[in-house]
Amino acid sequence: EEVYGLNQWGADYLSISSQGEVMVQLPTEAGIREVSLLDISEGLRQRGLEMPVMVRIENLIDGQITSLNESFAKAISELGYQAPYRGAFPIKVNQQSHVVSEIARFGNRYHHGLEAGSKAELLIAMSMLDNRESVIICNGYKDEEFIDLGLQMRKLGFKCFFVVETPAEVPVIIQRAKALDVEPYIGLRLKLSTQVDGHWAEDSGDRSIFGLSVTQLIQIVDTLRDADMLSALKLVHFHLGSQIPNIRNIRDGVREACRYYVELINEGAPLGYLDLGGGLAVDYDGSSSTEGHSRNYSQEEYCVDIVETVKESLDPLNIPHPVLVSESGRATVAHTSVLLFNILDVSRFMPTHEPQAPEEEDNDAILNIWTAYQSVSPLTLQESYNDAIYYRDRVRDLFGRGDISLRQRAYAENVSLAILQKIVKLLPSQKRLPVELENLPEQMADIYYANFSVFQSLPDAWAINQVFPVMPIHRLQEEPTRRAIIADLTCDCDGKLDLFAHPDGAKETLPLHTLKSGEEYLLGVFLVGAYQETLGDLHNLFGDTNVASVRVQPDGSIEYVHELNGDTISDVLSYVEYDTKELFTRFRKTAETAVKEGRITIQERQKILAAFKDGLEGYTYFER
Ligand code: PLP
Repeated sequence: EEVYGLNQWGADYLSISSQGEVMVQLPTEAGIREVSLLDISEGLRQRGLEMPVMVRIENLIDGQITSLNESFAKAISELGYQAPYRGAFPIKVNQQSHVVSEIARFGNRYHHGLEAGSKAELLIAMSMLDNRESVIICNGYKDEEFIDLGLQMRKLGFKCFFVVETPAEVPVIIQRAKALDVEPYIGLRLKLSTQVDGHWAEDSGDRSIFGLSVTQLIQIVDTLRDADMLSALKLVHFHLGSQIPNIRNIRDGVREACRYYVELINEGAPLGYLDLGGGLAVDYDGSSSTEGHSRNYSQEEYCVDIVETVKESLDPLNIPHPVLVSESGRATVAHTSVLLFNILDVSRFMPTHEPQAPEEEDNDAILNIWTAYQSVSPLTLQESYNDAIYYRDRVRDLFGRGDISLRQRAYAENVSLAILQKIVKLLPSQKRLPVELENLPEQMADIYYANFSVFQSLPDAWAINQVFPVMPIHRLQEEPTRRAIIADLTCDCDGKLDLFAHPDGAKETLPLHTLKSGEEYLLGVFLVGAYQETLGDLHNLFGDTNVASVRVQPDGSIEYVHELNGDTISDVLSYVEYDTKELFTRFRKTAETAVKEGRITIQERQKILAAFKDGLEGYTYFER
């Protein structure tokens, strides 16, 4: 468990069984039940869902909604806060219908609502929610149609808020509300000066592209007052950025927002709701660092600090406590999904065999590299390294000029690898490492070729260097003896994982087991339920992976609630506007010409055409 740090980033729901399998502890109505991820993957295989597959574990959505709501409820009751908490899940964080409908279904008991950033997302929220106690928060730029949809929800009695992003929206809201004869619920998005640490620092502070300046706030208040609609101003919203690693930033932001809350009350707005946006961080590496992949606070602390700060800010002024809304996305769904994939092959930077002495009359460079190999010792590591690289490059040069043969070059490459591996073995015995050798173990790490696409399934790993926890889901009773990076199926130099979450700080290589012939080696990338699925792209035309939602029942059995086959090749071709019928017709002509030319028989033509058709219907990933 320490090798991969899963005790730290596993948020108490992952462990390793005595058989060496990753176990998931899941809340059910009858208490916690434990299942093996390997058993889940086996069940998926039996149902025809091959690797790679995105597994969503529904119990974990329920677990996160419960713990967020219960943590706020506890803080509210312990601190004597006089208003409730209302969550609003931001649909953009995972728009998949099964995820949103599970949030709406399970969240109903907590009046957990939804946040919509576009018309499409609002239509989802309108159809998924039927609890009038829940809030619907409409963010983003809103045209008349968007506003009309939200107003219709108000007509139906829902607490549907328009968070104003720009003053230009206000006259449209006023005009449409009057036309439809309904009172809108209006919120204002603040631009706070509080700046946050971490990757999303730019969402906060003066240069944030979101939020209203103080002059715009005043302008909007005046416009609403002039239209006799100040009573519609019910909510103050701010969003400091996603994945805020430092709790002190959150406290500062809440305190600053409360100042605006007070001033807007003083202006005559009724308010009643304070919306804290997102930002509750996920602990991706278990390090508690404030650099971006972790957080220096617990969820309980987050809730207590918010409730306490609002109370402390408003009590001296006798202002009634607002309903606290948060739009936590990442923390609600990151845990729910695991990407499972298999390893297809391994490339090792190891000599293929123990080097033997060359012929005496061989080329000098060959003789010298052999001498360097023989003389590696703990006292000469830097020198041996220099020789290995120098003579290897010299041999490459000689090969380029035609002075040595392919076999001689292969000999030298093998000896050079043997020298470097000898050095790697001796490095731990060194008190101080020469700078050039510090990264040698990483440079000599194996490459494990994996059956998935970083661009499709883990876009943030490529785009913003997001670090995710990765580990084998079985064989964990055996010590992993190799160190590796992971290359995906795309032939792109960015299509790899070479930074792995670990509580001691991200590691450049991952400890892995050697492959056993005839046995699959399965790995999981954890905490991928937030943002990854929809942001993924079709690089190299690898499409959506297979997806399965599972739910563990109170009796511990696994129910395969929902199975979705990933894109076929035909699907992805149609996304880039190929007409697969036309492709087939064209290819049939090529095959027919080959028949006419006598290259193939008609029977062979039929077989080739059938293979083409099968190919179109196949999975875009490597199939067994
Ligand atoms: N609310 C708004 C307005 C956002 O822009 C975002 C995402 O950045 C969120 C909520 C979700 O944030 P998080 O996933 O950090 O909870």
